[in-house]
Amino acid sequence: MNKFIPISEPQLSGNEKKYVLDCVDTGWISSLGSYIERFESEFAAYCGAKYGVSTSNGTVALHLALLALGIGKGDEVIVPTLTFVASANAVLYTGATPIFVDADEKTWTVDTKQIINKITSKTKAIIPVHLYGHPCDMEAIHAIARAKHLFVIEDAAEAHGAIFKNKKVGNLGTIGCFSFYGNKTITTGEGGMIVTNNKQLADKARFLKDHAMSKTKKYYHPTLGYNYRMTNIQAAIGLAQLEQIQTFLDKKITIAHLYNRLLSSTKGVVIPPKADWATNSYWMYSVLIDKAKYGMSRDQLIKALKKHKIDSRPFFVPMHKLPMYQTDETFPVAERLALQGINLPSSTRLSDADVRRVAKVINDLRQ
Ligand SMILES: *Cc1c(COP(=O)(O)O)cnc(C)c1O
Repeated sequence: MNKFIPISEPQLSGNEKKYVLDCVDTGWISSLGSYIERFESEFAAYCGAKYGVSTSNGTVALHLALLALGIGKGDEVIVPTLTFVASANAVLYTGATPIFVDADEKTWTVDTKQIINKITSKTKAIIPVHLYGHPCDMEAIHAIARAKHLFVIEDAAEAHGAIFKNKKVGNLGTIGCFSFYGNKTITTGEGGMIVTNNKQLADKARFLKDHAMSKTKKYYHPTLGYNYRMTNIQAAIGLAQLEQIQTFLDKKITIAHLYNRLLSSTKGVVIPPKADWATNSYWMYSVLIDKAKYGMSRDQLIKALKKHKIDSRPFFVPMHKLPMYQTDETFPVAERLALQGINLPSSTRLSDADVRRVAKVINDLRQ
């Protein structure tokens, strides 16, 4: 009997248990404690950034980044339409308006050539999203940001350890935001982090995430604050995960290369992009299914895989297709990718045999 193959599972094979027990044994289970400081400084250092500010999840990391930059009502922020909903929601939380841009055929990330058309006098920032682990063309984004005096807030929630031209993502803009949700490359269960080289921004984010309480006067809150804190237990898990990140990334790349080898000659299956300048971290191994050439649609394939006890996911519904962001504008590339894209099992705990089984089912199902 074949076992069920999940889309993703956390791998807690290092010091997670030891560090968590240490929190319990010492009583440091809330949002103070040595693991928080260590996880923040070591994760920031991993990204090549000076400061790390931990948060309770990746969505609030984005919200906090926008708040720290003073973005709010009346402002506009450029966001790719093909992303997870949190990238756009964080903008809306501040009162600002997300302005959507289509995806690029070659990287599935934001089409940098189309950003310039969307910039107005209200535009304050660009949020490039390194979708499914493939970095955005950050040089093109920086050129626009410099010319138009915009902030760059990287949404690196899906791209821990991905590399743009020898530099890790997350430290390529004004602020980088990460998620450590259960299915992300490293996890804290729920959790997030802001990384930046700007001390003022890090300080402001730290202040806002802790109820905006005055440092000098207890229970005096000069502005509206939030409780977006991470716990020491989450940070303990995160630190143990960070110790293993290179192993996880190596495994993701091994999985991707094996899938590529087994699927690249299958008609109607398009393997994931990798620009010359990019190291795709393959958070999710994703392919496109061309119905005409493959003989069944992406949605039919998802159902068929399920019958073979193989989990998968469709690509994100583009933001402009959601009720709160609906527009008359069309985004043809994002719409096609969203219709054809499927994430295949990508867990670091997959064996070669698991990957071969998934690929064989996909190859056998082709009509
Ligand atoms: C996961 C994710 C987030 C948000 O992360 P949470 O930790 O779940 O709040 C934000 N943006 C993108 C692109 C994501 O994939």
